[in-house]
Amino acid sequence: MDRREFIKNSLLAASGAILLSGCTFKTSSPHVKGGVTTTKFKNIDVSMLGFGCMRLPVNAKGEIDDALNKKMVQRAIESGINYFDTAYMYMGGKSEKAMGDALKKYDRASFNFTTKMPVMMLEKEEDVERIFNEQLKRCQTDYFDFYLVHCLNKHNWENTKKYNVIPFLEKMKKEGKIKYLGFSHHDTPELLQEIIDYYDKWEFVQLQINKLDWKTCRGEEQYNIARKAKLPIIVMEPLRGSALANLNADATKILKDYNPNASAASWAFRWLAGLDGILTMLSGMTLPEHLEDNIKTFTNLKPLSEEEQKIYDKAIQAHLKTQAIGCTSCRYCECPVGVNIAGIFSLYNQYKQDNTGMGKNGFISHYEALRESERADKCIKCGLCKTKCPQKLNIPALLEKVDKEYKQLKGA
Ligand code: SF4
Ligand code: SF4
Repeated sequence: MDRREFIKNSLLAASGAILLSGCTFKTSSPHVKGGVTTTKFKNIDVSMLGFGCMRLPVNAKGEIDDALNKKMVQRAIESGINYFDTAYMYMGGKSEKAMGDALKKYDRASFNFTTKMPVMMLEKEEDVERIFNEQLKRCQTDYFDFYLVHCLNKHNWENTKKYNVIPFLEKMKKEGKIKYLGFSHHDTPELLQEIIDYYDKWEFVQLQINKLDWKTCRGEEQYNIARKAKLPIIVMEPLRGSALANLNADATKILKDYNPNASAASWAFRWLAGLDGILTMLSGMTLPEHLEDNIKTFTNLKPLSEEEQKIYDKAIQAHLKTQAIGCTSCRYCECPVGVNIAGIFSLYNQYKQDNTGMGKNGFISHYEALRESERADKCIKCGLCKTKCPQKLNIPALLEKVDKEYKQLKGA
């Protein structure tokens, strides 16, 4: 089937759109149109699986494997994936060009091309226009469908205001070079709220949401802020690097006993599919098998049933048990001074166990996204938490250890 036939068939299928049974989406209606499930954003259909371009396939020399990337893009498009998310600095600055090369043969109106303004790199106001024009050239397009102010944290938000990024991007919208404007957020819920309040024309927000970050990195709070502001949410890091695709042996057994054919990654995506207001979930698919597994999950995408939710919770608890600190996130250890014990331990465990994603810098930035009052150094060693912990953890001593390691990493 060629592309035109595919689009025609998709449209025919869309005319009889099938609503997913048990689906909880409210702000948009996901439906199937002959490929992966899509959701409505304004007047367009966006695939709920977004093609993330931060981890494109590479060859033995570590360079982008353009031939394989083009094949994967073709397979993605034929499967109904129509959201491609790159950024100025991805793949050492080469992702935008590689994606421009891969996408230029397709009808420009048939897919959404997304990139981001690297506000962390700005040194003067003129940089904004220079970089934007460079991006159009690299991506070989006249416009971007979705455009984000990239990686907003305190520093990058200051740069955004200082260099008048938003007025410039508004101008680009007026000139038809951007269709929809949003931002990606990497800081506290408080800053997220500030950014949303500052500008009332944001059209979407990109957040890190997954089962591991939901409680520990205040993911749920961020999600609720976006929902309250009625901003559709693009999910980044749905697998927490690939931690949620590589659960430990006990967790894997629980999931496989229940459904031998489902990958751990598919459980993570289906958990997200149970949340309202998700526009798309970005997945960096380095290998064709990742893409195939995701296509399988997102074709007739179904949120976890209640029974599956319980199984998934059990598997995540089993995964957490083998971590550096044996904390199960039960949160019985309420701290009178407000130290976020479970959150800190979970972050530390991810940093220690996650062989794929977080690393030193990730740990530092996530730790610093906690309120200062919640951090380990605020522990006054009253010992109350120890008496409540079913795992009999020496919580004050463990907090001291995490604090010491954090300070060493910061100083290193
Ligand atoms: S020992 Fe520290 S963490 Fe535990 S309850 Fe007391 S202040 Fe909170
Ligand atoms: S009570 Fe113990 S196991 Fe439960 S969250 Fe607190 S530290 Fe973790």
